[in-house]
Amino acid sequence: MRYISTRGNAAPQAFCDILLGGLAPDGGLYLPESYPQISRAELDAWRQLSYADLAYEILSKFITDIPAADLKALVARTYTADVYRYTRNGGDAAQITPLTKLEDGLYTQELSNGPTLAFKDMAMQLLGNLFEYVLEKRGQAINILGATSGDTGSAAEYAMRGKHNVKVFMLSPDGKMSAFQRAQMYSLQDPNIFNIAVTGLFDDAQDIVKAVSNDAEFKAKYKIGAVNSINWARVAAQIVYYFQGYFLATKSNDEQVAFAVPSGNFGNICAGHIARQMGLPIARLVLATNENDVLDEFFKTGIYRPRSAAETSITSSPSMDISKASNFERFVFDLVGRDPAVVRELWAKVDKGLAFDLSATVHWQKIGNFGFVSGKSSHVDRINTIRFAQGRYNVMLDTHTADGLKVALEHRLPNVPMIVLETAQPAKFEETIREALGTEPVRPADLAGIEKLEQRVVVMAPDVAAVKQFLVERV
Ligand SMILES: *Cc1c(COP(=O)(O)O)cnc(C)c1O
Repeated sequence: MRYISTRGNAAPQAFCDILLGGLAPDGGLYLPESYPQISRAELDAWRQLSYADLAYEILSKFITDIPAADLKALVARTYTADVYRYTRNGGDAAQITPLTKLEDGLYTQELSNGPTLAFKDMAMQLLGNLFEYVLEKRGQAINILGATSGDTGSAAEYAMRGKHNVKVFMLSPDGKMSAFQRAQMYSLQDPNIFNIAVTGLFDDAQDIVKAVSNDAEFKAKYKIGAVNSINWARVAAQIVYYFQGYFLATKSNDEQVAFAVPSGNFGNICAGHIARQMGLPIARLVLATNENDVLDEFFKTGIYRPRSAAETSITSSPSMDISKASNFERFVFDLVGRDPAVVRELWAKVDKGLAFDLSATVHWQKIGNFGFVSGKSSHVDRINTIRFAQGRYNVMLDTHTADGLKVALEHRLPNVPMIVLETAQPAKFEETIREALGTEPVRPADLAGIEKLEQRVVVMAPDVAAVKQFLVERV
């Protein structure tokens, strides 16, 4: 299996060659040159498999340059009940992403049972093991530099802690994350993890990362890398739980399901789109946004209009607060018949902050083939949905999953089970849970009091030179 760029001007690459990088050299995103097609016989055989074995079967279609036995061992180490142990609502940790039944034909799928209580662990844990394996084989090292406002940074640190030849330098806005989020990251004592709290906003932290990454000489000399949401391996890892959810919600492979996905950068639902392209019987992909509705607007109108910073709201489902969706280019590549010339033309506009409109094109006439529907949710909807789920089903939802359920209920099909992906646990969003329910969310017992642990963090002014100096002294 080789990987091509959505913009068509980069040489095809093997999996391990794109694993450690970000964008393709032509500015595009990597995708497999074709999607593997799953036969009915394979689907029947896969229904019996454990999560780790299923993950191996699926990933081995995309990763053909790691020996089978090595990949199998690596995947088996990643998807264990021990790593994904924070199940709720009576879920079976051995299933890794178990379903919670709300009512007949309506489920949530728990993707947030990993160490940081958000779905980013599902892919990031695999990435940690893949990075270590490939770096070891190649005798290389990497220094991951990132900026986070919460979920991504902590998932990256928990995935990379203790990994050989990997160091993580994670910038976060000083005092802007919740006490729980700070404790999650800053209490890590692993010598290869460095937390830098920048006295500024998330955007200041991100600007520093961009400035360092744009310094090609520095980047090469100090082996600076990233683990952002466009990384292909993250998307690939996420395909697996769509298959698992399908098997758990159905009795036979003649049935169809629908998935509702709380969406931000389009990484999660992009994996659902690929699972469907591979032949998984998905009737519908329901895309849910919060107040930042750039993707809902696209699926309703054919117009994709990236927002300015000023137009982007800070909401109570903060991991979906996006101005543009970094993985969306992958879907558009498929929508326009995989024609890179069209993608280049469209992204020439997007890269200048401009909109594009497909509504009058032949491409838009095909949108129905892709199974997408969409909707949006507001703070009031979120609060009401958290109350509704608690009252009706006795299930506590986090704010993002509440957005997913709100939109899912608008798009149910008769006799098709609807699976709402649970992207975080409510314990991460105590303030909004208190507002909705007047109670404290349940937190896994062994995370009680993590705010009291000793913290390891350096506070720094938002200064590129100072961050570079800090890195140079430690790589
Ligand atoms: C990252 C995240 C999302 C959005 O996922 P995308 O892949 O960016 O669409 C939704 N919910 C939570 C809790 C997240 O951490």
